[in-house]
Amino acid sequence: MAIMEILAYPNPFLRKEAKKVERFDEALKKIVVNMSETMKSSDGLGLAATQVGLDMQLFILSPETFEKQEPKPISGDQNIVFINPEIVEQSKEEYLSSEGCLSFPEVFINVSRPKWVVIKAQDENGQFFEMRGEELAARAMLHERDHLIGKVMIDHVSFYNRQKALAKHQKVQKALHQQK
Ligand SMILES: [Zn+2]
Repeated sequence: MAIMEILAYPNPFLRKEAKKVERFDEALKKIVVNMSETMKSSDGLGLAATQVGLDMQLFILSPETFEKQEPKPISGDQNIVFINPEIVEQSKEEYLSSEGCLSFPEVFINVSRPKWVVIKAQDENGQFFEMRGEELAARAMLHERDHLIGKVMIDHVSFYNRQKALAKHQKVQKALHQQK
């Protein structure tokens, strides 16, 4: 297992539209294991492949994101792997809630997102599945899926709120680099 470097905004890779995954092999499983370790070490709820410099349509979510959802679409404490995800349906109704991102450590902004979403994806064996996410889970699924089309959370807010978030992000990044 290996901890990967998480790219911070504005790394150009975060604006990349990721390629579809076509090979479901051992190398892919190893990537999922490494991404899981990386997410855990940073205390994240979700991580997209493009955030660790991989050009592939893949993200993982912690089962914690489904904690409040009943009935739960998953069991166990394994991370959920979404490969080549597509939005099947999403609610028109949206709600505002605080959101964070491992590419913007310590920055939290209010983002309006659909209340629920259904995403179709493949697991690490290539099996297709559909999953419905509500509230936090929907938010996390859509946030991570955005990463695979080159979008980040600040794209969803007003100019003023974006400037505020970027100012905070620059401050945090400066402090982090001084620590090194
Ligand atoms: Zn993110």
